[in-house]
Amino acid sequence: MSTTLFTNAKMIDGRLCDIAVAAGRITAIEPAGVSSPQAERIDIAGQLLVPGFVEGHIHLDTSFYGDTWVPHRPCTNGFDVHERVAFQADNMAKAAPMEERARKQLDLCIANGTLQMRSHVMVDGSVGLTSLETILAVRETYRELIDIQIVAFPQSGILKSPGTPDLLDAAIGLGADVVGGLDPASFDRSIDGHLDVVFGVAEKRGVSIDIHLHDAGTLGAFTIEEICDRTVALGMQGRVAVSHAYGLGDLGTDAARKIAGKIARSGVSIMTNAPGNHSFPPVALLRQEGVTVFSGSDNIRDSWWPFGDGDLLRRAEIISYRSGFYTDMDLASAFDVVTSAGAMALGLEGYGIEIGAKADFVTLDAEHVPLAVVSVPKARRVFKAGKLISQPS
Ligand SMILES: [Zn+2]
Repeated sequence: MSTTLFTNAKMIDGRLCDIAVAAGRITAIEPAGVSSPQAERIDIAGQLLVPGFVEGHIHLDTSFYGDTWVPHRPCTNGFDVHERVAFQADNMAKAAPMEERARKQLDLCIANGTLQMRSHVMVDGSVGLTSLETILAVRETYRELIDIQIVAFPQSGILKSPGTPDLLDAAIGLGADVVGGLDPASFDRSIDGHLDVVFGVAEKRGVSIDIHLHDAGTLGAFTIEEICDRTVALGMQGRVAVSHAYGLGDLGTDAARKIAGKIARSGVSIMTNAPGNHSFPPVALLRQEGVTVFSGSDNIRDSWWPFGDGDLLRRAEIISYRSGFYTDMDLASAFDVVTSAGAMALGLEGYGIEIGAKADFVTLDAEHVPLAVVSVPKARRVFKAGKLISQPS
């Protein structure tokens, strides 16, 4: 079994180390210079070496990244999920083939050091399982480069889109890993009806759950409590996520702290990408109460907004900026959101820079993590299973 030695790697804690890798896993971490000289060597030259970023929420099927520019259409009377879904259907009909767009988006993410991903893929009465089939095929061709979890995402609702309950079940049978949901109250007008289907499929198929929840204020908070109760009732702690959870950002501190305790005890994770001028979950408060907070790009150049660069380090900067994170400890916590906390939320095995973990890592030209978060250095070498898969051109 051949060993590769990654020499002079700056660890997150500041130590300079040599990291031995064999069969795609880290087998030893020693102070720099003391390791066996026989192995093949790759010099990290004192750069920061961090685990691959965890893209916890993206949409590989609906991005126009790399396609022609699609000007953003505003909603006619404030943000309206139904209207945005209709805009998306119009835009998708004119877009380049999905496989091509998904590949471009994946290439972008990998070059930025993302090696683990959770992508939502539309499954509903309009597209059936066709988008899922395409993204499953793309995933297969990228399996040596990035690990991808796929969420069967009912973009058009579950109760409002005939046939979707059966399609979600069939999607898991076809290869999706996680069952999704969308605004049980405001979209489907029935929290219980919607969650009965989502948790029903999860229980039957033994899969995790990740629900888009845009609902604001107490409606959003109430829905989260319902999700927490069902999670505990089914013993699904650690396997349920709520994406966006904007409502948590609308609550006063006392109310937010109270529900944060419940979320933590239920083992429900919260995903935020700190978007635009929207209220978003209080990241520091949630983490203080023990909630796993993770992040993702969400939409990249799609029908929802024109932003996104597939860079989770940039996302950590955005989260820090919007959360008022200035101290080293706070900046490091934002970095944790896009790395280790993401791995926990996604239930990843073998994540991190430690003996026995997968040799999936990225080099950053920064002295330490807080500086990386505020400076977002772009020249990165990306290693998957110890093999170089991307480097600065
Ligand atoms: Zn989304």
